[in-house]
Amino acid sequence: LAPGRAAALAQLVRDVPDYPQPGVMFRDITGLLADGPAFADLVGAFAAAQEPGAVDLVVGMEARGFLLGAPLAVALGVGFVPLRKAGKLPAPTERVAYDLEYGTAELEVRTGSIPAGARVVVVDDVLATGGTAAAAVELVERCGAQVVDVQFLLELDALGGRARLAGRPLTSLWAVP
Ligand code: AMP
Repeated sequence: LAPGRAAALAQLVRDVPDYPQPGVMFRDITGLLADGPAFADLVGAFAAAQEPGAVDLVVGMEARGFLLGAPLAVALGVGFVPLRKAGKLPAPTERVAYDLEYGTAELEVRTGSIPAGARVVVVDDVLATGGTAAAAVELVERCGAQVVDVQFLLELDALGGRARLAGRPLTSLWAVP
């Protein structure tokens, strides 16, 4: 993305203070998705971050990872596998539990849907504490696949998510302090 275009796309992400709870600045990407040329440029930028032919599969986390991961998979000419919140997929599944700010959550993948040895890009919209992304990486690696990149639209530096992904390649289009 040209610097001016990147700034224009960033303008389409709306900052919503105190949502869904006091003290949280929610980054709403729906305005960016609703703008056709902006969405296309965004998916193009995600795809351009990957080496041609070096990715076998895109994996996205429910729900906003689906919105970015599925078009990325099409752009790269590879398949897409959804990681779903617990209880949404028919058995058999692999499941990982992880901590949220309050309580815990679980991510699941259909057993056999990520082939051993596959080179996988994991996609989500926002990297905050990194708990969700770390759980996704654990699921992919448990399947015997290799995480070649974890891609985000936006990285919230202050929350230290990058450290939770220790050692894994990580790409974000923008970071905020
Ligand atoms: P975390 O596990 O803390 O890195 O949180 C990441 C997940 O929560 C991602 O799936 C994001 O979509 C969502 N999320 C966390 N914080 C925000 C935020 N400030 N704005 C938008 N989404 C967020």
